[in-house]
Amino acid sequence: MERVNLLGIDIDKYTFDEAIEYAKSKKGQVVTINPEMIDYAAKNAEFASIIKNAELVIPDGIGVQLGLKILGHNIKRIPGIEFAKRLIAELEGRPVALIGAKPNVIQKAVENLKNEYPNLNLVYVHDGYFEDTDKILDEVCAKEPELVLAALGSPKQEEFIYRLKKMLPDTLMIGVGGSFDVWSGEVERAPQIYQKLWLEWLYRTLKEPKRFKRIFPALPLFVLKVLKEKWS
Ligand code: UDP
Repeated sequence: MERVNLLGIDIDKYTFDEAIEYAKSKKGQVVTINPEMIDYAAKNAEFASIIKNAELVIPDGIGVQLGLKILGHNIKRIPGIEFAKRLIAELEGRPVALIGAKPNVIQKAVENLKNEYPNLNLVYVHDGYFEDTDKILDEVCAKEPELVLAALGSPKQEEFIYRLKKMLPDTLMIGVGGSFDVWSGEVERAPQIYQKLWLEWLYRTLKEPKRFKRIFPALPLFVLKVLKEKWS
């Protein structure tokens, strides 16, 4: 499958359904890429290498979809939260591990997921605030999950998965950012209208003003960088 390059990062051109099928057959690491991660990869070679080695890189947010469009690629974004939910649904019954978020958040997310997917087979659940990463990696590994969702924020979740992938090469793993917060009911996802108008980032910023400093300048700056690349 063809990959397209956006500011040094190769992104897969799959549609949502194709990406699901590919992820299920290929296994390994799925990275849901956004402008902040692309910026970080430009500064951190190790992180760039993790993305380069990922089995699947999907365009998570509207910033990446817009950037690709500027470069002439019409690729629809694949929201990581929806992608992960589909994997849970399609692999219902298979062993799954969830790692991340605050203890009360993951607990609520698990309750809600179990209600939605009665045959969900959770073999390992842990919050994302641990000191001893080696211990968590060993514990997950011992449970031999087929699907691992890590919600540790970026780059922590990608680094965690990269290490785990070496221990469990036949497992499908994806970093899901703030998805557990949404599934727990603690954080609301932007209403459809914001999603349709490409303003999900604005909604999240309004709800969580501390994100403003991080997110707001990032998006226009990212677009400027892409334009610069296009014109250079
Ligand atoms: N998180 C975690 N451990 C950490 C840092 C963050 O489990 O050491 C969780 C956090 O509780 C949240 C998720 O990672 O559930 C995503 O965090 P954030 O919103 O900062 O990341 P983003 O979604 O913006 O990448």
